[in-house]
Amino acid sequence: MYKITLEWIEEGGTRSQTISNEDNTREVGKIFIGRDENQCDIVLPSSEKTVSRLHVVIFYDSHRQGWCLKNLTGNRSSPNPAIVNGKIIILEEVLLSVGSLIQLGRITIVVKQIEGNKSQYQYGIRCVNGHLLPYDFIGDFCPHCGYSLQASETIYLSPEDQDIPPEN
Ligand SMILES: [Zn+2]
Repeated sequence: MYKITLEWIEEGGTRSQTISNEDNTREVGKIFIGRDENQCDIVLPSSEKTVSRLHVVIFYDSHRQGWCLKNLTGNRSSPNPAIVNGKIIILEEVLLSVGSLIQLGRITIVVKQIEGNKSQYQYGIRCVNGHLLPYDFIGDFCPHCGYSLQASETIYLSPEDQDIPPEN
């Protein structure tokens, strides 16, 4: 069984959800995210108009042996982007890792924990204030504190480290 824990901030506080690929979601192994409670497993506030009604799906890919994200608005004439680690995702399917940041409109979802990705070890970037970011993070500034990543050190995250959620 493979699990993923997502955390995000909404009006009213921090929300977190852990879902496994065997859970009874709308389609087993898939987590639909958006504003429409009739189509989504994770329902973001209906007031967040920057998020599409059915925006992305996160699914366990047995070939890549990890959790991936796909933008479900990608085939529309005007897709609503999903931004993963600073990169705009329209059509490609992107592999998620611990610390991945998923921006849907004004909502940012953090991948807090993952069980089941192929590589047990992952490189990570640590900003000067100690925030952990995925090694493939694109951007010059830490999204948590805004400090430049020029001064950051690249660290090697062990499985034990990955059990510790990144500090906020
Ligand atoms: Zn930081």
